[in-house]
Amino acid sequence: MLSQEVISPKFKSKLGNAVLYSSAFTVNIALNCTAESLGINGELISITKDGIDRNDHDGGDPLISDISVLAPSARDKSLAPTGKGLVTLYIPAYIEYRNYWGTDKDEDGKFVRSEKYNQIKTEVAETLIQRVEKELSVNLKEHILFYDVSTPITYYRYTGNKNGTMMGARHGKENMQAKIAHHQTKVKNLIIGGHWADLGGGVPIAVKAAANAVLLTLKKEYKSSFKLLANYMDGKLSVEQLNSSDLVKPYNNSWTN
Ligand SMILES: Cc1cc2nc3c(=O)[nH]c(=O)nc-3n(C[C@H](O)[C@H](O)[C@H](O)COP(=O)(O)OP(=O)(O)OC[C@H]3O[C@@H](n4cnc5c(N)ncnc54)[C@H](O)[C@@H]3O)c2cc1C
Repeated sequence: MLSQEVISPKFKSKLGNAVLYSSAFTVNIALNCTAESLGINGELISITKDGIDRNDHDGGDPLISDISVLAPSARDKSLAPTGKGLVTLYIPAYIEYRNYWGTDKDEDGKFVRSEKYNQIKTEVAETLIQRVEKELSVNLKEHILFYDVSTPITYYRYTGNKNGTMMGARHGKENMQAKIAHHQTKVKNLIIGGHWADLGGGVPIAVKAAANAVLLTLKKEYKSSFKLLANYMDGKLSVEQLNSSDLVKPYNNSWTN
């Protein structure tokens, strides 16, 4: 989106070639019973195949890729009505799979989801459900009220992350040498504050990047607040000392505003 004066074609090309984490294929299942009654509790269950190449564990093939099985409703009862449950299945997945999940492209190059897309989505979801049924010896299918599926196309559509990557740029030599990680941009007051600011991705990196973006802003605009927060981040102040400062506003921890 940015002009050549702001971002050089060379750096743009490096960003374009950055090594990224995979995307995901996720099946969110609503059950007519609790997940616990099927033996799926608060733990993360990982289903893996023996005797396959190491890279095939996260290669995106629904027949052999590792499946993660989680029951969000086992941990948080407010997620499903009493007596019902939620189970999530997911595998690492890639946007190129079966020619971009059977999508077409419109004149602007945007993915157009068609009948073929829905068909591939259902096929992959059913494959994962069957594998989970077999490996965990549960009759999952007969308890399904409905399920909702996200493909890499979905993750791309909702997050705008390149190729629907789950976590942005990977750790590693190539990305380090290409200097992919950066907070500051050449656009005045535009600081990167999400998982793209650093290598390694995920929630911890997004939180770290957000905290760094705040510190960079305060350093420029509110020096005393910057000093206070930086001292807390460096472990020189306790959270009580931080909160007792006049520079910090009270917050009721409601997470609603
Ligand atoms: C299936 C899956 C499983 C994961 N599991 C884990 C895990 O176990 N542990 C872990 O640490 N991480 C995990 N991650 C990764 C983690 O969710 C991300 O790294 C993290 O959410 C990135 O945070 P972010 O704030 O940078 O971006 P996001 O959370 O993607 O937030 C960006 C926001 O910007 C919005 N947006 C995009 N474009 C626009 C626009 N033009 N205008 C306005 N808003 C816009 C998006 O809708 C989105 O809400 C997982 C990701 C996926 C997809």
